[in-house]
Amino acid sequence: AIILGLESSCDETAAALVTSEREILAHCLAGQEEAHRRFGGVVPEIAARAHVDVMTPLVAQALEEAGLSLDQVDAVAATAGPGLIGGVMVGLMTGKALALAGGKPLVAVNHLEGHALSPRLADPGLAFPYLLLLVSGGHCQLLLVEGVGQYRRLATTIDDALGEAFDKTAKALGFGYPGGPAVEAAAKRGDPGAVPLPRPLLGSAEPHFSFAGLKSAVLRARDSGDHAADDIAAGFQAAAIDCLIDRTRKALEIAGDVAALVVAGGVASNASVRASLQALAAEEKIPFVAPPPWLCTDNAAMIAWAGAERFAAGLVDPLDFPARARWPLDPDAAKARGAGV
Ligand code: ATP
Ligand code: MG
Ligand code: FE
Repeated sequence: AIILGLESSCDETAAALVTSEREILAHCLAGQEEAHRRFGGVVPEIAARAHVDVMTPLVAQALEEAGLSLDQVDAVAATAGPGLIGGVMVGLMTGKALALAGGKPLVAVNHLEGHALSPRLADPGLAFPYLLLLVSGGHCQLLLVEGVGQYRRLATTIDDALGEAFDKTAKALGFGYPGGPAVEAAAKRGDPGAVPLPRPLLGSAEPHFSFAGLKSAVLRARDSGDHAADDIAAGFQAAAIDCLIDRTRKALEIAGDVAALVVAGGVASNASVRASLQALAAEEKIPFVAPPPWLCTDNAAMIAWAGAERFAAGLVDPLDFPARARWPLDPDAAKARGAGV
């Protein structure tokens, strides 16, 4: 089957065509960095308007690149949440309109499921169940992925997401927005041992995360005037990775037998994060899977692929499916811990 995927939950507008045989026929993406840069972060209203401007042309571009017409598409998959609600509505409404006009089924995709299943697009051999470290701009979770639509959340962050911590560190050090790649580049130049920084929750019994204290320590190190920005960036990244490894090792212990250790989400495009997790997997003697960096940050190929997996399982959605600002992958775990975590 050929699936058209649409993504617009944050500050990337994207359209892609992917087959159920994992062929990526086209993937088109328009970032909005310029529109948001002078505000130092994503402004929801500006993001929504920018999505409106480019979504339809991007769909046309994807179809043209693939040499296909809408007739040849078997289903339309669109991100229906979680994310900035104005943006989510643009992609979802476009998807609904195309589905209705073309007489195609609609698949409403959870953006987090897009990230969670993206490693299976990259690696045909990746079987369930796997332990997924989902590290993105809004989330930092360890999930046991048991099947399509079957996610058990073992851990989450009690305060900031890791991508958010990268972005705040970048802002604090004057690297601007977007922050993750800038902090990674600075960390390569700096000395990771020069600035002593905390490793919150290291060694605690439950594999949860916390990055607020690390962020505050970064601010104090900056304000002290004693340290170069590159050293602070290197120290921050090293501390964050120590936390990821310790918490993931703990989750592997709790999860028991899994087919692989997998990482996904924007922060998974960080080379040091990938290398450290790969070393952990080697130590634990399990396979390690990380999608290529472009598939880690927001894109529509992962939404089309999640759509393909759901479509194959007969999971299609009605045209009145609502856009959702909040939409946890594991609603029971989210309820147990309360709103926000
Ligand atoms: P979510 O998926 O949780 O809804 P999002 O869609 O905004 O959030 P992603 O696009 O998946 O997030 O990831 C973006 C995040 O990844 C940003 O916080 C960004 O700083 C971070 N990031 C991107 N590249 C890197 C990198 N090389 N190193 C560290 N962090 C990175
Ligand atoms: Mg983005
Ligand atoms: Fe994302």
